[in-house]
Amino acid sequence: MNYRHAYHAGNFADVVKHVVLVLCLVHLRKKEAPFRVIDTHAGPGSADLAAIESEKTGEWRDGIGQLIGPEARPLPPQVAARLKPYLDLIAAENAGFAPTLKRYPGSPQLMASLLRDKDALYANEMHPEDSRRLAKLLAKDRQVKLMEGDGWTALKSLLPPAEKRGLILIDPPFEEPNELVRLTNGLGDGLARFRSGTFLLWYPIKDPKPIQRFHRGVTEVSRHAKLETVLAAELYLRAPRHPDYLNGTGMIIANPPFTLADDLNVILPELAARFAKGPGAMHRVVDLLNEIKAA
Ligand code: SAM
Repeated sequence: MNYRHAYHAGNFADVVKHVVLVLCLVHLRKKEAPFRVIDTHAGPGSADLAAIESEKTGEWRDGIGQLIGPEARPLPPQVAARLKPYLDLIAAENAGFAPTLKRYPGSPQLMASLLRDKDALYANEMHPEDSRRLAKLLAKDRQVKLMEGDGWTALKSLLPPAEKRGLILIDPPFEEPNELVRLTNGLGDGLARFRSGTFLLWYPIKDPKPIQRFHRGVTEVSRHAKLETVLAAELYLRAPRHPDYLNGTGMIIANPPFTLADDLNVILPELAARFAKGPGAMHRVVDLLNEIKAA
């Protein structure tokens, strides 16, 4: 386990992932009934952008730094309105530092901020140092249960939730060569236990070919579970000519809120333009169950 998320906190991939996460949680809050949120690979929970890790890579400057802070241009109103819940949480984390960006909240911190009294969060992180940082941040929150084990095992043990409504984020570090297969199997296991849950799966885009295979696998397990909608939302920094580069970022959203695709089709073109690193920067949002024909 060499991966440390602090080096990448607030980068373009984090922004896209957390925008999707916040939009889904805001939707879950619209109904009265309580929900459970599960973060299988939670990370440290919050990052100090001036700390040695974040400063070393400076990735956040090309991500969240393009949306908020002294270097960011104002957003078009239709984008700003849709990003408001997410940007409000980033601003709250930086209250007192404006216009400078000092901190960036990780997924469990964003989730915890959006819980109502009746909701619950289970956050699992296996790295002892990041798990310690997460505990420092959230251990006192009685709605949050922290776990320090294997995320794939936690996924099975925590489903189905007693609340019968919920969202699961699976965000592994991609240190293992077979991570896309594990993600597909994780989704299949998760859906077998909790078919109506909203599942968010993050994946990096280097070479697009393995991604096409991954999409076919996700489509297969989703059809098996008889799902109606599974979105793939992707943002490319550039055309993926060099498979060694991180050319883009992707999210699978199984059982998405019905408004999500429309919202992302307004937000992602603006993000793609701001984050672009070369020709071919673009976004796409597709429903895999419509796009990929049944075998
Ligand atoms: N979800 C976080 C966020 O959005 O702020 C970022 C998570 S980071 C991409 C992946 C995390 O998974 C790392 O903190 C790493 O230590 C942790 N990790 C690695 N292997 C794991 C495993 N088998 N089970 C749980 N966590 C693991």
